[in-house]
Amino acid sequence: KSKEQGKNQYMFCTEEMKAETARKLKLIEDLHQALERQELRLYYQPQVCAKSKKIIGYEALLRWFHPELGIISPGLFIPLAEQIGLIGRIGDWVLMEACLQCKKHHLKGVSDIRVAVNVSIFQLQNPAFFNRIRQILEETQLEPHYLELEITESATVNEHYNIIELIGSLKKLGVSVSIDDFGTEYSSLSRLCDMPVDRIKLDIQFIRGIGQKEKNNAIICGIIGLAHTLGLKIIAEGVETKIQLDFLIENSIDEIQGFYFYRPVPPDELEQIILSSYNDLNRKNFVNRNSS
Ligand code: C2E
Ligand code: MG
Ligand code: MG
Ligand code: MG
Repeated sequence: KSKEQGKNQYMFCTEEMKAETARKLKLIEDLHQALERQELRLYYQPQVCAKSKKIIGYEALLRWFHPELGIISPGLFIPLAEQIGLIGRIGDWVLMEACLQCKKHHLKGVSDIRVAVNVSIFQLQNPAFFNRIRQILEETQLEPHYLELEITESATVNEHYNIIELIGSLKKLGVSVSIDDFGTEYSSLSRLCDMPVDRIKLDIQFIRGIGQKEKNNAIICGIIGLAHTLGLKIIAEGVETKIQLDFLIENSIDEIQGFYFYRPVPPDELEQIILSSYNDLNRKNFVNRNSS
């Protein structure tokens, strides 16, 4: 009897696996048409200056509005897009859309706000990548220093292309580069010294650990100190609580991104957030000027 059960279990497992594979194949099939069908949209999450709390930029975060399955997270479909060779086209669209969005704000008089775009290692490896960036900036008329590219640590330890040279060219063009999810992957500190990047993004796992583990707090302080010693800015991602915020500010973090301030929002909401915070600040400056 137990043999029978074991067999059933095995069958059950196979069915599960079959269903899983079928789901994945269906997603892959659908993903091929997602761009044309305009199912991909960018949400934007504002980033604020730790001192002034002023919005200094926003990160573009991709969402897939699947007609049957609802909103699918990029953590799920970006790896698929990479596997099936679609990330180049999707990535191009993201860059174009994000630059247009930022330019739109500048045209409305909101200057000094940058847009951060996640780029996959597969995009960086493409020899045409640098020219593509130049083209997109030209087409959208966005000044290069308002575009920031977020790359992951693993993209900096890849040996199939010269990442240091690529970052150098991007910097010459005026584009900024940050290292996303910093501290989660293997990368040596000496490697970081060689990277001509502008900013590192402290990974959410360290933020979650604030006040939970003594050593975690020490590591955060160490990373912030290291960043500043190397002349880099450091931004915390995934900040959700006042406790986390206070700890980070006390320890000289430069910028904050997280649900505590803002969630990722669609373009129209972003517009409202930015315009109202901008007006608030202008009004405050106006009052300050007139009261002093
Ligand atoms: P990421 O670049 O590290 O983005 C930060 C993620 O943390 C986002 O998840 C964001 O929604 C989430 N987040 C922000 N604040 C908080 C918070 O306070 N608490 C919590 N729990 N989460 C927070 P999302 O949007 O699901 O994106 C996941 C990942 O997908 C991104 O991680 C990025 O690696 C990738 N991704 C997103 N958009 C693109 C894209 O256009 N191109 C590429 N290549 N990758 C993308
Ligand atoms: Mg990112
Ligand atoms: Mg990140
Ligand atoms: Mg992350």
